[in-house]
Order: sequence, then C-alpha cells, then structure tokens
Amino acid sequence: MIPNRKGYFGKFGGRFVPETLMSALQYLEKEYMSAKKEKSFRKEMEYYLKEYAGRPTPLFYARNLTKRFGGAKIYLKREDLLHTGAHKINNTIGQLLLALRMKKYRIIAETGAGQHGVATATAAALFGCKCSVYMGEEDIRRQAINVFRMRLLGAQVIPVSSGSKTLKDAINETLRDWVTNINTTHYVLGSVVGPHPYPMMVRDFQSVIGREARRQIIDVEGKLPRCLIACVGGGSNSIGLFYPFYKDKVSFIGVEAGGLGLSSGSHAASLLKGKIGILHGSKSAVLQDNDGQIETTHSVSAGLDYPGVGPEHTYYMNTKRAEYVAVNDREALSGFKMLSEMEGIIPALEPAHAIYYASKIAPKLSKKDSIIVCLSGRGDKDIDIVKEYFKF
Ligand SMILES: *Cc1c(COP(=O)(O)O)cnc(C)c1O
Repeated sequence: MIPNRKGYFGKFGGRFVPETLMSALQYLEKEYMSAKKEKSFRKEMEYYLKEYAGRPTPLFYARNLTKRFGGAKIYLKREDLLHTGAHKINNTIGQLLLALRMKKYRIIAETGAGQHGVATATAAALFGCKCSVYMGEEDIRRQAINVFRMRLLGAQVIPVSSGSKTLKDAINETLRDWVTNINTTHYVLGSVVGPHPYPMMVRDFQSVIGREARRQIIDVEGKLPRCLIACVGGGSNSIGLFYPFYKDKVSFIGVEAGGLGLSSGSHAASLLKGKIGILHGSKSAVLQDNDGQIETTHSVSAGLDYPGVGPEHTYYMNTKRAEYVAVNDREALSGFKMLSEMEGIIPALEPAHAIYYASKIAPKLSKKDSIIVCLSGRGDKDIDIVKEYFKF
C-alpha cells in the first residue's frame, strides 16, 4: 500500500511541519481514514460530484486529432466540462465534506492562478462555510478576474507580499494562518503536495478521474489503453488519472512545463530538473539552487508554475512506473490551437501541454492502441494570455 502509515511513497513524502500542526494533521488523517470507509460519506461525495459538479465526465474519442496524428486512437477525459471548469472541484468538494465532519467551519486555501481558490470558494459557498484565500500580490495583479470571482462567491482574498509574491509564498502564509487557528479552521490544499495525509487524500479524491476513464475505455475499446498522458503541476489531475491503472500494463506519461526551455532556467520542470528537498512539509523533487533556495519558475500556464511536485510522482519516477517529459510554452500553444481548431474544444493551457505530447506519441503506436489524455480544464481563463500570442 502506498503511502505507508507515515505518509511515505518510498523515500518521498512524510510530514515536515512545526509541532503545532502535527496534531491537526493526525486528526485530519484519522477522520479521513474513517470517513473513507463509511458508506454514507462515499454516498454524499458521489451525490455532490454527480448532481453539483457534473460527473461522470465523458471520455471523448478525438477522431480528428487521431486522423491527423496517425497511429493510436486519442481519447480525451473531459474534466473541462465540470462545474468551475477544471478537475479541482473533485478535491474541494471532498475536503469540504471532511471539514463539516470535523466541525471546522472556517476554510482557508492558497491559490496561484486562482483556479484552486475559485474551486474552494465555490465549495465553501455550497456548504455554508467562511472562506479566506491567500494569494500572492503578483498573482492578484495577473489574475484579476479570478480574484473578482472569489469575492463574488463570498470569499475573502488575502494578498501575500512576501518572497516572490506568488503561489509558494501564499502556501507559506496559509500554513501560518492554520497554525494560529487550528481549532476552527480546515486548510484545503489544492494538489497532491504538502504534508501527509494531503498527497494521499487529494489523490484519492481525484482518482474518480481514472476510475471512470478505466471503465469507459473498456466499454468502448474492450481493452485497456496503451498509455495515459497528463500535465503535471503539483500533480493532482495526473495522479488522479494514473492511480486506478497502477497495477495495469498501461504506461504513464507526465508532462511538465518546459517554459522557455529546460536549459533556459525559465521553466517549472521539478521532476526533470529538481533535486530532492523539502518544500511545504514533504520530501520530493524541488527546483532549488545549490544553497537550497527555491528557484523562481516560469510557464505560460499559471497552473503548472510551481517549483515542487507531489511525492508520489517522485516515487513513480524513481521506480520507473511513470515517465516524465517536458513540453515548452511554444509547443503548448500549438497544442492549444490544434485542439481548438480540430475538435472545437478550447483547452486550458495546462492540458495543452499534454495534447501536444500526445501528437508526438500517437504516431509511434499502432492503430489498434488507444491513449487517454486528461483534459484537466477549459481555456476560458487563459484567453487573455493566449491573445498575446495569436494575432488574427
Ligand atoms: C491547477 C491546474 C492544473 C495543475 O494542477 P495539478 O495538481 O498538477 O493537476 C492542471 N490543469 C488545470 C486546468 C488546472 O487548473
């Protein structure tokens, strides 16, 4: 079973936090483990995922892309069709139900681009909880629409002015708030990162993606796919797709943000270019300099712009269960354009990385094979960024 009882995936993961957070994390773990076994909790979760978020999402056969690339059939797991436009709601609904169970009615979260902040504010509104979202000042400036969205949803957005004024600094502030308000507050972490039990719990909540996809592909193809492709920021949509296929003979490909190129220093490829270290309470691959200072990252897609990655991915890489590659900004934009024009689906820039990589892999495989790409979110949020690249 991974992780083990201390939250380790092989050598990675764990719980590197101040003493004051230990008991809250232990309590969260205990409540989660018992909730997971309860039929009523699972039923409630299923109810909201279906009736509120819009699950199950379709597994769409992308006929035009398949024809263009040649080779394996491309299927898209349509997480972009969920309420709020991305997979993040799978996790925030799960964590809100858990918060209610723990009688913690104040919710805090960190956000980078604002997507996780919006998904948390949405679930908090649904379940009648107070919500505060920490966001770096730089991100507030870049993502004004999402800031407004969170406020419309009744959440308070708290600017963070320390460090690089981006996501990693927002996470630090959220952890600080949590230490101070531990008895009343639940911290909804947005990806498979952070101290145990978050990487395991967020993976479990996101695994609904892979469980559905596995059933759906067997229904239409009568067999398992050859490979799964998903983008990796913190790593939650990818682990969510991969994990239910862990024991199958199916290969996993995680696509990191290559930014301006892996040798440019401006990227967010934590697995390919990082070193093992501790960031935000867990041991995993981290982009850091020789003194252990966290490096600044760059990606055209805000959701991939994070210097760390979930410990389970580092474990999959070390045990060779998954392969990791990088796709740069320019290639991701071409994936974005390709999917928009050829299938009538405008993707978020994050999964556009995965789409691009599918175009490289599909031609190498047989027409009898299939590939599932996780379409983690829709592109509405990225229109302003993309506008600068495409002139009509
Ligand atoms: C946040 C986000 C990601 C990256 O996060 P993961 O935890 O790696 O899934 C990917 N795609 C979309 C659409 C996102 O909003």
